[in-house]
Amino acid sequence: MDIRVVGGGLAGVEAAYQIAQRGQKVTLYEMRPHVFTPAHRTPFLSELVCSNSLKSKELSNAHGVLKEEMRLLGSIIVGTADETAIQGGKALVVDRERFSQVITDKIESHPLIRISREEVTGIPDGTVIFATGPLTSDRLADTLGALTGTSNFYFFDAISPIVEGETIDMEKAFFGARYMDGSDDYLNCPLTRDEYDRFYEALISAERVQLREFEKTPYFEGCLPVEIMAERGRQTLLYGPMKPVGLTYGTGTRPYAVIQLRREDASGTMYNMVGFQTKLTYTAQERIFKLIPALRNAVFLRYGSIHRNTYINSPAVLARDLRLSGNERIFLAGQITGVEGYVESAAMGLLAGISACASVRGHIFSPPPEDTFVGALLNYITTENKHFQPMNVNFGLLKGYNKKYKDAVVKNALFAISAWKDKMDRLRSPLQ
Ligand SMILES: Cc1cc2nc3c(=O)[nH]c(=O)nc-3n(C[C@H](O)[C@H](O)[C@H](O)COP(=O)(O)OP(=O)(O)OC[C@H]3O[C@@H](n4cnc5c(N)ncnc54)[C@H](O)[C@@H]3O)c2cc1C
Repeated sequence: MDIRVVGGGLAGVEAAYQIAQRGQKVTLYEMRPHVFTPAHRTPFLSELVCSNSLKSKELSNAHGVLKEEMRLLGSIIVGTADETAIQGGKALVVDRERFSQVITDKIESHPLIRISREEVTGIPDGTVIFATGPLTSDRLADTLGALTGTSNFYFFDAISPIVEGETIDMEKAFFGARYMDGSDDYLNCPLTRDEYDRFYEALISAERVQLREFEKTPYFEGCLPVEIMAERGRQTLLYGPMKPVGLTYGTGTRPYAVIQLRREDASGTMYNMVGFQTKLTYTAQERIFKLIPALRNAVFLRYGSIHRNTYINSPAVLARDLRLSGNERIFLAGQITGVEGYVESAAMGLLAGISACASVRGHIFSPPPEDTFVGALLNYITTENKHFQPMNVNFGLLKGYNKKYKDAVVKNALFAISAWKDKMDRLRSPLQ
């Protein structure tokens, strides 16, 4: 029986292509043009709904390395982006229409791929990959929510910025949990009254991302954007995410305000700004969060955001082969697994395609090594995490990453992904 892939976006196309290139038949379901998401506008596969940039081309940037790994793995998304690239400086920028038209042509003409233009609302028979993205149709969302359990299925993300641990000014920060219980779970960034006033003024007047019509849903009280909280009054943040209560440093000084940073990984490579979900533009975040003394030289690995975003609590429900735990034949791929961005989503499509193909042939899928960027992303979404939030690719995902060895880390990742590819290729049936 064909492997079925639901969703003809970045991840679904990549998954279908990888399966077909391995000699296995695929049916790819796409609901457009009969039903549109609020963001898609065309009938083409792999439509880019917003920017036409696939981010950095440079190997000094994690996005650049991820794309290079995908080239080595034979990605249709990155390959076609290279073919349809236009001038974009250090970024891989594509002619948006040509990009999705060329992809559609390649998929339509592939002898092992059949495209079915219909909205899927239930669970098709056989081996299925769901790659229906951040705007999964409502009826399918109900079905998937029932499969994962509604408490593991989300419709919005509320993402706080992440800073690179070694760029925090440790002389201006101190470890300690509230009421100084001896644990060092949080890294606290104190502000004096003057520093808070400057920060506050900048925050409430900063530029915000314009919301699209379908994103104008009321915010949940529990995860308001920090700037909206600030608009309620000068003191509001001091009772919320900047509460100083129970925190002292030095000889017992109590700060006027505090921003708490929580470790994202055991080695402290990445720190999350707790409660700082925001709709400020990236430029405004960079400028305003650097007014916090301990963060004045911080490098942001991820910016804060709040989106309409359908995704699952992958660490709780996905296995390392992207299979729904306890369900042999259902795989998930793309942004719905809790990665963020075009290329990250395609990367999870690529892995799901290889994994599903191995599964129907009775082969064992071994995940890519954790010291590759594809492997590190997979590791992030499938490792236990009480505070799971969607993630883009960045160097901090690599365990024990140290900036001093950046070039060696990149070289090693590219070497390791090639070795992994060879291993996976040996799993191909000798008939192909
Ligand atoms: C408004 C908006 C702006 C964004 N801007 C950017 C950006 O600038 N840069 C960036 O990197 N990322 C951006 N993203 C994120 C980006 O869209 C995703 O990372 C990427 O498209 C996800 O790929 P995917 O394949 O998982 O989902 P998609 O590319 O969304 O593909 C999912 C596909 O599934 C189809 N589908 C949905 N439900 C069904 C169903 N029931 N049956 C059949 N088909 C179905 C959809 O029509 C769609 O074609 C944005 C997302 C949104 C919503």
